[in-house]
Amino acid sequence: MKIYNTLSKQKEEFIPLEEGKVKMYVCGPTVYNYIHIGNARPMIVFDTVRKYLEYKGYDVNYVSNFTDVDDKIIKKAIEEGTSSEEVAQRFIEECKKDMADMNVRPATTHPLATQEIDGMIEMISTLIEKGFAYPAADGTVYFRTRKFAEYGKLSHKNLDDLQAGHRDIKVTGDLKEDALDFVLWKPKKDGEPYWVSPWCDGRPGWHIECSVMSKKYLGDQIDIHAGGEDLVFPHHENEIAQSEAANGVEFSKYWMHNAFLNIDNKKMSKSAGNFFTVREIGAKYDLQVLRFFMLSAHYRSPLNFSADLMEAAKNGLERIVTAAENVKRLAGMAAGEMNDTEKELFAQTDAYVEKYEAAMDDDFNTADAIAAVFEYVKFANTNVSAENSKAYLDAIYDRLKLLCDVMGIIIEKEAEVLDEEIEALIEERQAARKNKDFKRADEIRDQLAAMGIVLKDTREGVTWKRA
Ligand code: AMP
Ligand code: ZN
Repeated sequence: MKIYNTLSKQKEEFIPLEEGKVKMYVCGPTVYNYIHIGNARPMIVFDTVRKYLEYKGYDVNYVSNFTDVDDKIIKKAIEEGTSSEEVAQRFIEECKKDMADMNVRPATTHPLATQEIDGMIEMISTLIEKGFAYPAADGTVYFRTRKFAEYGKLSHKNLDDLQAGHRDIKVTGDLKEDALDFVLWKPKKDGEPYWVSPWCDGRPGWHIECSVMSKKYLGDQIDIHAGGEDLVFPHHENEIAQSEAANGVEFSKYWMHNAFLNIDNKKMSKSAGNFFTVREIGAKYDLQVLRFFMLSAHYRSPLNFSADLMEAAKNGLERIVTAAENVKRLAGMAAGEMNDTEKELFAQTDAYVEKYEAAMDDDFNTADAIAAVFEYVKFANTNVSAENSKAYLDAIYDRLKLLCDVMGIIIEKEAEVLDEEIEALIEERQAARKNKDFKRADEIRDQLAAMGIVLKDTREGVTWKRA
């Protein structure tokens, strides 16, 4: 399996640090509002990466944080006359609802920055002891960027170019030793949440949060660190500097970055105002459609959001779900084991699985994997009928479900069917039979079969059970 590594700018063979295990950290959202569908892209993409790694047999420890202390959260709390804690808690809950609706599985751990302050103070102290950081006169602690020789290795920037870029913004009276130094800890301002530290009452910088949470829940070295491509610089570059300077080992082996979700070829962002929240899209579409839309492009290709593409995703998804429902309905009425012809036919579907895996093994090419699923659906549509055995139909269905499950695409409607609903249908069927409307009676039997209900005619009347 190959993964494109931002560090080497190449696809590399994936070799985990520990056999059979993957430690993965994905930078999560800053929670001051509902998430927009741009924020949903890394969630959906890396949830799919996680699911595929599990499909390959890896045990994945997946950590994704919530940044719950930040200027934007504080600003929102002031506007609303409430606390930043309340704002963060509220939007964490809303974010979790959106994730569930997009079938994004909760992380193994979702750490909160505000609950990890001790670890941050500890790592900052280590960096100071090792000479990689220093407190300034006002209590701000800075990272001494030039001391970390490999600074720039992820974003492929060189320090002199960066320095040139900084020249204009070097403010007189700046307490930094060097324009490139970045903040690890900053003094509180009036009305802001703060924690006591050896340097001043204050709060952590954003970058140190992820270095610390990753270390605490996954250890000094991890396999995959991921996020949107806007995080490459400075966020991930700074995380590398902090973690590697403090821990003395390589931080993450693979760095994965998704490209942007755009509108009119511009990055969707809160600050630009050109965004749709996941909630807004959820009011118009099943969020499965959004998920399918996101996966219809390779994660490293920019994706333009449009109503047309959403309609295309809706139709594509419907094609898959309809095929699945048809196979399930037929299986509900069938019986028996596979005959030789069916065995031969089923063996032909191996080719689609191979195509699917080849696409996913090639840096998670979900676009090509979906194409393989469509080919499988086409095969299923032409090679199933009421003549087939239950074993064959079940096998065809299960395989389609497996391929879709990995991408988080739900093909079965798992709506709870109530007993009353079933009994009402059975009564209607009895009435139809009495009136010699056998067509309707059969339709109802099929409908019940598709719901997984098996009917049995007995001397006492019709009994039923869930298959
Ligand atoms: P933020 O809350 O801005 O830190 O963003 C949370 C995650 O969403 C990060 O991984 C960002 O890189 C990602 N992100 C934000 N906007 C977009 C976008 N328009 N397209 C893709 N990813 C995005
Ligand atoms: Zn981060």
